[in-house]
Amino acid sequence: MEKGLLIILSGPSGVGKGTIRKRIMKNDRLNLVYSISMTTRAPRNMEVDGQDYYFVSKEEFQSNIENNNFLEWAEFVGNRYGTPKDKVEELRVQGRNVFLEIEINGAEQVLSKVKDEGVISFFLMPPSIKALEKRIRKRKSEPEEIIHERLEKGKKEMTMTRDYDHIILNDRVGRAAHKITRLILKKIHELNLNK
Ligand code: 5GP
Repeated sequence: MEKGLLIILSGPSGVGKGTIRKRIMKNDRLNLVYSISMTTRAPRNMEVDGQDYYFVSKEEFQSNIENNNFLEWAEFVGNRYGTPKDKVEELRVQGRNVFLEIEINGAEQVLSKVKDEGVISFFLMPPSIKALEKRIRKRKSEPEEIIHERLEKGKKEMTMTRDYDHIILNDRVGRAAHKITRLILKKIHELNLNK
């Protein structure tokens, strides 16, 4: 059996990565599994441990770094986020397509470590900075200074997209999700994975 794809989705905080991901994951033809990250960030209102993230202490995160348990990890506005390594490989070997929703430093690490042809990366762009700010504020989960930091970080990320295979404009959720779905299906077809 061929190894499954590794799909990377990045984009500035508030661009709507989670919404797009959930939409894409509904399509059974894509055979997707979401890689649940580990984070030191506190859960937001509706977030569930083991579903949205594995919420861990700084000490637990640190011990995972020391034990080389991450495919990649990065610091983002005061918290750490990482992708557990073994699970990703295990699922890909089983032929599943693994979906990573990670920021750009992490994406860069994955792209330099995983050299096989089954990697496909997307960067999601907001229609405007105003729209981005509106979305972050709508979440009502962060204090003003964090909102500001996330926005500044997002603006910087949007200038560093050259390593991504595809830049996708998130003007309408349905349209952006459809574009990404089509590109993943094309890649599956090219690599002959859905036999
Ligand atoms: P948030 O706090 O908004 O959930 O996530 C902050 C940023 O960290 C987002 O850009 C999100 O995609 C990214 N992120 C989530 N999990 C991971 C991970 O495992 N590794 C890396 N590098 N970034 C992650």
